[in-house]
Amino acid sequence: PAKISFRGVRKSYDNVPVLERVDLDLAENSFTCLLGPSGCGKSTLLNMIAGFAAPTAGEVLVGGRRVDGPDADRGVVFQEYALFPWRTALQNVAFGPMLKRLPRREQQVIARKYLALVGLSGHEDKYPSSLSGGMKQRVAIARALANDPSVLLMDEPFGALDAQTRETMQEELLRIWERERKTLVFVTHSISEAIFLADRIVVMGTRPGGIKEVLDNDLPHP
Ligand code: ADP
Ligand code: ADP
Repeated sequence: PAKISFRGVRKSYDNVPVLERVDLDLAENSFTCLLGPSGCGKSTLLNMIAGFAAPTAGEVLVGGRRVDGPDADRGVVFQEYALFPWRTALQNVAFGPMLKRLPRREQQVIARKYLALVGLSGHEDKYPSSLSGGMKQRVAIARALANDPSVLLMDEPFGALDAQTRETMQEELLRIWERERKTLVFVTHSISEAIFLADRIVVMGTRPGGIKEVLDNDLPHP
């Protein structure tokens, strides 16, 4: 059974259609890239899974349940990190466990574990302002994973990084995904990034009904 399903989804802003007739099933634990030019509706599609935006018509299901708002079971990573600047790396990652009202010690154990997973052991007490872009994005990934979500949504997460850091982060993300196994949806306008990362690429065009093809490219993972 698909983890994420779009059934006859349409999305319009002020009566201007952005997406039409979207029927899409994303398998459990798959790594899908949404690929297309700027403005084609990739973020809109992702935001409907996240629960940040509601479809104008049709429905989005995650784990068989209709999405009706954000949920900790769907972790999100943005291009611009969106870290809490007044919180340390550890406190940023502990945020989800804190909202769950886990005991303080347990929050810290979880946060340390995920910071270690993204290679940031030893940087727990640093504030975002003293971290590089790649390190900030590692914190953001750790923060999303600390809720142990079943779905991880990433919107051009490496788009603000220099080419070399981006490559390192792509490799790290594959390593993390192979270990943690989430249903991962990753937005990019970079063909090479999609080919490197995804086991499935959903290609989107600029016309509203423009999900022209869903390429199951069956790429073996590196
Ligand atoms: P999006 O709206 O999809 O997030 P942006 O317009 O913010 O994309 O573009 C991010 C960066 O990528 C910008 O520097 C932009 O010039 C570049 N860019 C946008 N579209 C493409 C593309 N098709 N191929 C290569 N670079 C692109
Ligand atoms: P992409 O992520 O592929 O760059 P988006 O999903 O961000 O594309 O945007 C798709 C289209 O929807 C664009 O024309 C954009 O201007 C429009 N759009 C996105 N969000 C909103 C919004 N909140 N209100 C109005 N128009 C929007």
